[in-house]
Amino acid sequence: MSAGAALAVEAVSVHFSGVRALNEVSLDVAPGSVSAVIGPNGAGKSTLFNVITGFYRPSAGRVRLGEAELTRMRPHRIARLGVSRTFQNLELSDGETVLENIMLGCYLQGRSGVLRAGLRLPGARAEERAARERCAEMAELVGLGPLLHRPCGPLPYGTRKRVEIARALAGEARLLLLDEPVAGMTAGEIDAMAELIRTVHGSLGLTILLIEHDVRFVLGLAGSVTVLDFGEVIARGSPDQIRADPAVIAAYLGE
Ligand code: ADP
Ligand code: MG
Repeated sequence: MSAGAALAVEAVSVHFSGVRALNEVSLDVAPGSVSAVIGPNGAGKSTLFNVITGFYRPSAGRVRLGEAELTRMRPHRIARLGVSRTFQNLELSDGETVLENIMLGCYLQGRSGVLRAGLRLPGARAEERAARERCAEMAELVGLGPLLHRPCGPLPYGTRKRVEIARALAGEARLLLLDEPVAGMTAGEIDAMAELIRTVHGSLGLTILLIEHDVRFVLGLAGSVTVLDFGEVIARGSPDQIRADPAVIAAYLGE
């Protein structure tokens, strides 16, 4: 299994006509760690993920993954380096089965032989079989084993979110980015998601960076936390340091 990758965000700024979404934001994520970015709505959290994954070009600053410079790389090439993400709003194909949705993760990284099998290229069938096996393994890991051939649409929200995570893992992720994985969940679903993230991290040893609005969830899960407010880093440290930081309490925890 691929080892986790180190991520370095260095003085990244992103401006949208008049709005400063990120202002010289720096962040170091240790390989194999679970880290988090928290902050109120509009703080710039999703923008940060869009920069890391190549969907937004920063107006200044750099992003590196291990030795690789991601700053001006296209999204599909960044994905191929093992950077996978989930979205704040679920993006699943409701008519397709759990397995088909997870298989899409292999397409997105261009690793599976599925497309090549369709074109009857040599070696593609074996590749497709390997991709299917990998997807079924990821489904099993996130507790979707018995649901592989069920359509996604009717499944409960918490279960659908698991499908999205399995899809992100399917293409051999080294860095998993989770955008508000527990938004809109019940207390029971939130506990189950924390357990799932621990299981995925423990089994695959990849690096996980999650962004969240739910502070309690993050502080129980991440080893290090960065706090964003209005596009700026206002604090970073261990969960205990963050809990006690007056700037964080003023900007966020006391809201
Ligand atoms: P968060 O995820 O922390 O809630 P976002 O990163 O989504 O915050 O947004 C940060 C700021 O950047 C907000 O003011 C938002 O309106 C703005 N923003 C984000 N994406 C775009 C975009 N594509 N075009 C214009 N403004 C954007
Ligand atoms: Mg967001």
